[in-house]
Amino acid sequence: MNRFESTLLKKKIVGPRTVLLQFEDVFGSWVPGQFVMLEVLLPHEEQVTRRAYSIANACGSGVLELLIEQKDDLAKMGTFVLNVPEGSKILLEGPYGNFKLREGDERVVLIASGTGLAPLRAMLQECVRTNREAVLLFSSKTNEQAYLKEELLEYAKEHEFIQVELFVTREDTKYNKGRITKDALLEKLRSVENSRFYLCGAPEFVKAMQDALRELGAPLDKLHREQW
Ligand SMILES: Cc1cc2nc3c(=O)[nH]c(=O)nc-3n(C[C@H](O)[C@H](O)[C@H](O)COP(=O)(O)OP(=O)(O)OC[C@H]3O[C@@H](n4cnc5c(N)ncnc54)[C@H](O)[C@@H]3O)c2cc1C
Repeated sequence: MNRFESTLLKKKIVGPRTVLLQFEDVFGSWVPGQFVMLEVLLPHEEQVTRRAYSIANACGSGVLELLIEQKDDLAKMGTFVLNVPEGSKILLEGPYGNFKLREGDERVVLIASGTGLAPLRAMLQECVRTNREAVLLFSSKTNEQAYLKEELLEYAKEHEFIQVELFVTREDTKYNKGRITKDALLEKLRSVENSRFYLCGAPEFVKAMQDALRELGAPLDKLHREQW
């Protein structure tokens, strides 16, 4: 089993109650989309707390990144990671999971809400690295919650085979205003042909995206989902 202590190299606030944690890469290999288990013994607790987190970057840069939101003040791991200092050693286990970027020459369509961006950012980085055509549609409630938007938009600016569409549902925005609807999918994707779809976010979001894509004619075996 792959269980290693890893040093937290950097912690960056990327949105309200949301951090991007950068660890030293103790695994050496993973497929974009996979997750790790993070394990800590919290003060005043007898049992360890273990939670799953999708790896938020592509493999190969020597670091492993996690994008974690503290849901509220009672959320254990979310609260722990907001406060943990850089330089701490934390137990990571993995990589796990079958939500993986498949090889092939189909267009890669990535559709995320909230921290569901994490595994899809790893996939997007892999597409950038391998010159693969990809579209990211990323929905957030507010502009501030459009995590890492400058970086994401930069990928699209730098590479003509990458398209990034930000959607903001609850306030005015210079990006796309409102939810990702069936019409919005059709407008941004133009067609569901020759594409493979990766959906990640809250269960109701993932279901809505799957239903809309099915109505547009996307085959079930081309849809891959992760949700929490
Ligand atoms: C494959 C996978 C990948 C994931 N990837 C990510 C990711 O990339 N980023 C991410 O942020 N999350 C991710 N998650 C979710 C993550 O695993 C955790 O579920 C999430 O971070 C919440 O854990 P926590 O310890 O912070 O909150 P918990 O302590 O588990 O609390 C969860 C909720 O329950 C409530 N609660 C807790 N105790 C009580 C109580 N006594 N009474 C009432 N309410 C209570 C809390 O207020 C909170 O709202 C992923 C999950 C899976 C399965």
